[in-house]
Formats: sequence, structure tokens, C-alpha cells
Amino acid sequence: MSKKIIIFFGPPGSGKGTQAEMLAKKTDWKKISTGDLFRAEIANGTKLGKSVGKYLQAGKLVPDKLTLSLVEESLKQKTSGFIFDGFPRNKRQLNDLLAVFRKRLKKNDLAYALEVAVGDKEVKQRLSQRRSCACGAVYHLIYNPPINEGVCDICGGKLFTRNDDKPKVIAHRLKLYYNESKSILDYWQKQGRLIKIAGEQPIKKIHEEIMEKLKKLKLV
Ligand code: ADP
Ligand code: ADP
Ligand code: ZN
Repeated sequence: MSKKIIIFFGPPGSGKGTQAEMLAKKTDWKKISTGDLFRAEIANGTKLGKSVGKYLQAGKLVPDKLTLSLVEESLKQKTSGFIFDGFPRNKRQLNDLLAVFRKRLKKNDLAYALEVAVGDKEVKQRLSQRRSCACGAVYHLIYNPPINEGVCDICGGKLFTRNDDKPKVIAHRLKLYYNESKSILDYWQKQGRLIKIAGEQPIKKIHEEIMEKLKKLKLV
């Protein structure tokens, strides 16, 4: 069977992590979320965690080399598909990923980019009310609240506001996204491999739209 690869794009707060998780649950594909991987390294106090903390705190990109090593490690998992959330984030990372694909993918394997489009105003609203859990689960105070206030439905952990979900850092992260993402999205568009999703809809609706579009392309 051929391997499927879906690469999520969208500004911070567009809901790509939420959708990537829902897609991973529906399929048996492995999700590679570089942000989650970095946060886990930081929480576990690893050597890598210690060297990347300052970048996440400031909303800056972690150096490409460190990021790529993490991604390459994750790609060793045995699976029929991968879902990328948060990688690649610049042209260099795209080229690195394409080089890895050339090495690892077979002729019939399929890679598509999926863009979740959401405007700045909505994104800022979503990020200001995002609450996260160390287990990777994500909530929104209004649109996707936990059953018990402040407590993760999945693991019972205490929910927190991410350090980088502050107005000043958000503005910086958004700027970075628009500067870096255009050339990557152009690449996938030219390949005829860009799926566009309207991100300003309820979470369930977006998931349905994603599943429909993937079905049409015979990816699921
Ligand atoms: P969001 O989901 O809000 O877009 P992420 O969880 O994807 O944020 O990323 C959080 C932070 O982790 C980034 O601001 C950056 O510091 C770091 N990071 C995540 N992915 C990458 C990447 N591909 N390259 C460099 N840094 C990254
Ligand atoms: P990203 O990974 O793109 O940074 P997240 O998946 O973490 O985005 O979502 C950002 C915030 O918005 C979270 O609080 C999440 O619960 C909420 N959210 C996600 N999708 C939607 C949606 N379609 N409508 C409203 N809120 C959403
Ligand atoms: Zn949890």
C-alpha cells in the first residue's frame, strides 16, 4: 500500500493542530507536530529542551538543524501515513523535507499540503482563549471547552495558557508565518498538491470538509 502524507499549513491559532489530531484519530497515520515535540522536550528537561526553550518563549523559529533531526527521528515510525503539523516552516525546511522524501518515499506514495485559512482577527481571538495540556490536548474557553474547568478531559492534567500565546508574541509569530509560508504554499500549488480549507467554520465542519476533500483525492 502506498504511504500518504498530509502537511498542514495555517497561521498560529488557525486550528491546524486540532484538525491534525482529528485526522490522526480517523486514520492510523502518525502525527508529527514539531511544536508539541519541542514542548515535550522542554517539559522533560532534556538537552534539546534546554537549548530550544528561548526560541519558543520568544515565538522565534528553532534553528533548522535541530528541527530537522527531530523530524527525521519521528519519520522512522512504521505507519501507512504521516500528518505534519508545524513543519516545514521556511524554504530551507521545505527543501530538507523534500530531500528526506526523495530518500524514503516510494513512487506511489502521495504527499499533499493542506492549508487552513483563517483571518488575523479570528486567529488572535482563538489564541487568547486557547488552553493547553502537557499531554498535547488543546481547548478553547468558548468553542471547545473542557468538561471540567481548567482540567484536561483526556489525562486529568491542569490546563495552562502557553507562554507564547501573549499578544506581543502572537503578533511576531503571525508576521513570521506570513513571511515564510508564501513560498512554501506556492511550491505545493505549482505541484497541484495544495488542498485549501475554509478555517472559519465550526471544528466539526472543518473536519468534514477535510475528510470529503481527502476522499475525492482517494487519500482516505
Ligand atoms: P502554533 O501551533 O501556535 O502555530 P507551534 O506549536 O506549531 O505553534 O510552534 C510553537 C513554537 O515551536 C514556534 O513558535 C517555534 O518556536 C517552535 N517550532 C515549531 N515548529 C517549528 C519548526 N518547524 N521550525 C522551527 N521552530 C518551530
Ligand atoms: P494551531 O495548531 O493552528 O495553532 P489550534 O488547533 O491549537 O491551532 O487551535 C487554536 C485555538 O482555537 C484552540 O483554542 C482551539 O481549541 C481553537 N479552535 C480550533 N479550531 C477552531 C474552530 N474551527 N473554531 C473555533 N475555535 C477553534
Ligand atoms: Zn491532558
